[in-house]
Amino acid sequence: MKIAAYLLLALSFLMMACNEPQTERAEWALALHGGAGTISKDIPDTLKQQYYDGLRQALRAGEIILREGGSALDAVEYVVRNLEDNPLFNAGKGSVFTAEGKHELDAAIMDGSTLAAGALTGLTTIKNPVTLARMVMEDSPHIFFSGVGAEEFANQTDVERVENEYFFTETRYQQWQRAQTDNASIFPKAEWTEGDYFGTVGAVALDKNGNLAAATSTGGMTNKQFGRVGDVPIIGSGTFANHVAAISATGWGEQIMRNVSATTIANYMEFTGSTLEQALDFVLTERLNPGDAGFVAVDADGNISMKMNTEGMYRGSIDSRGNRVVMIWEDE
Ligand code: ASP
Repeated sequence: MKIAAYLLLALSFLMMACNEPQTERAEWALALHGGAGTISKDIPDTLKQQYYDGLRQALRAGEIILREGGSALDAVEYVVRNLEDNPLFNAGKGSVFTAEGKHELDAAIMDGSTLAAGALTGLTTIKNPVTLARMVMEDSPHIFFSGVGAEEFANQTDVERVENEYFFTETRYQQWQRAQTDNASIFPKAEWTEGDYFGTVGAVALDKNGNLAAATSTGGMTNKQFGRVGDVPIIGSGTFANHVAAISATGWGEQIMRNVSATTIANYMEFTGSTLEQALDFVLTERLNPGDAGFVAVDADGNISMKMNTEGMYRGSIDSRGNRVVMIWEDE
């Protein structure tokens, strides 16, 4: 009888432990996104599967690095490269068309342990913008290069180059054709439909040494006007990492920039003692409007938060505690 009572007690302790939120710090953690927006649940199953597979593949690329003790910087660069090479996402190969029918790419990367950063805008010949952003960060005295100057910087490196036509995909071409008729880059919310105007890829990571890093890469907004710069390469808006958190944004760049969103998340945590999740909620509900944006973020304890005020966001995360998810919509 006594043994049964002890067993019952042990069992109830075990059950309580299982229900407790995970409090111990994750050794390493990684989250990524492939863009936020209105994503129809009616997309064909095969396409849905391709998105999930793409997200899983990119997660795996980062997992291998972090599990083996690699740096958060390496992880976010390789995850973003992986997504840039996937034509499904609006970055690298799958970049959207500008109003002039070209492709102009933006990217940024930031090392939370040193605040070193590299950013680029208006790239036309760089296959993997995130890698060039890392070169800016490590091999130049500056943080941010644009257009002609960015290409000039690239000429001094061995970064892989492509013709601008490399970025052509039929899907993006069709989206551009539609966007031209409704001036979508100026009033994107008027006609937001599945993947038409937004996209962007990004990753954030915490490594075993406790360092945080963030990287984001994009083709920007479909039909964007001459020289338009979005939030992605603006350090503190679409991309930010410090000792508190690493954040990567996606969504309507103009809105994300106005609210210096990524830095606001990290500062809100630091200044108010809030959790990462509360900080994302604050920016998504108190600063941004419904339908504006989504964020993936990780803090110094390896807590991950992936939230949006859009219908969907391609996203995924993994950590050393065994959590692993890939999701598109809110209710999955
Ligand atoms: N934020 C990006 C931009 O405005 C687009 C996106 O995330 O889809 O350039």
